[in-house]
Amino acid sequence: MKNLYIVGALGSIGMQTLDIVRNNKDEFKVIGLSLGRNLDLAKEVIEEFKPEIISFREKNDLSFSYNPIIYYGDEGLLEVSKYHKYDNEVFVNALVGISGLMPTVYAIKSRKTICLANKETLVVAGDIIKSLVKEYNVPLIPIDSEHSAILQCIQGESHNEIKRLIITASGGSFRDKSRKELVNVTKEEALKHPNWKMGSKITIDSATMMNKGFEIIEAHYLFDIPYNKIEAILHRESIVHSMVEFNDGTIKAELGVSDMRTPIAYALRYPSHSSMESNRLDLLNLNLHFEKLSFERFPCLNFAYLASKLGGIYYAVLNAANEAAVHLFLNDKIKFLEIENIIYKEITNPKYQNIEYNLENVIKTSYEIIDKIVKEYE
Ligand code: MG
Repeated sequence: MKNLYIVGALGSIGMQTLDIVRNNKDEFKVIGLSLGRNLDLAKEVIEEFKPEIISFREKNDLSFSYNPIIYYGDEGLLEVSKYHKYDNEVFVNALVGISGLMPTVYAIKSRKTICLANKETLVVAGDIIKSLVKEYNVPLIPIDSEHSAILQCIQGESHNEIKRLIITASGGSFRDKSRKELVNVTKEEALKHPNWKMGSKITIDSATMMNKGFEIIEAHYLFDIPYNKIEAILHRESIVHSMVEFNDGTIKAELGVSDMRTPIAYALRYPSHSSMESNRLDLLNLNLHFEKLSFERFPCLNFAYLASKLGGIYYAVLNAANEAAVHLFLNDKIKFLEIENIIYKEITNPKYQNIEYNLENVIKTSYEIIDKIVKEYE
């Protein structure tokens, strides 16, 4: 039996994780949950899974048919992350943004297996997380579909035979629009992803291609591959979830339907592909295409490489500027292309280069940048 903790349980990844638990009750038990603002849904989920420990984002007067340990706010989120009572504890981080960083740190320190959907954790603090994972000797398994694909492709292979990682990108909601056509696109149009049903922040990140930039950074840290051996390629169908090329020219790919429950289940059961009810790929009707991703069309890809060259605190600067800009766009404060301008302005600002790279500064600098940018537009 695996004992699960899910932070960000009411989001898209969290709910799909709970769906897997629901269908495999002899395999998984929910011990801890952190939940957001939808209290009706929270109550339903809590009564169904009866976790021992719960954290809500805000105080409320919900009552339950049993007596769980209840916490609130940021402190509560960390209490759930560090709670430790059983063997075989698995921590699913389904939070969005920098708020996912400290829960990952606490979960590592309490020696849980980490299943990571919160990509910002590795984007802003990749080096710190890597050394913590080593120190506490815990597995770090990606939930992101691209990284799940790469992880599957490298099973049984030796690291020094990897020639390059090829990360596929669907292109997001505006893949067929020119730069000129992007000037007046709306939030509603941006939120319509052609292939994947996801939360709003990551759907905007897909439209700007910042998501792919983050995934390149994520791949660098997860698989210890230098940036010059990681490429992103446009693949409209989202059937090939990513590929690995080896020194002899062999390319291994992982194919499947666009259903996040598959990579979530693989992370929970790693390295097992045990059976799950899901849609099957219809091989006879496959039509796969790959195209070059243009850095001119998608400058956010360039910003990710720039942050990787500057290194240290600039990873946090990249993420914070993006987090603030996406927040402003989702609240109708800025136009779509201003997201890029805001990120560019911050990552080319030399004033951050004297900030020492450590966990405290990553968090402090991130929130300072987010506050500063959001205030500028309000
Ligand atoms: Mg992805």
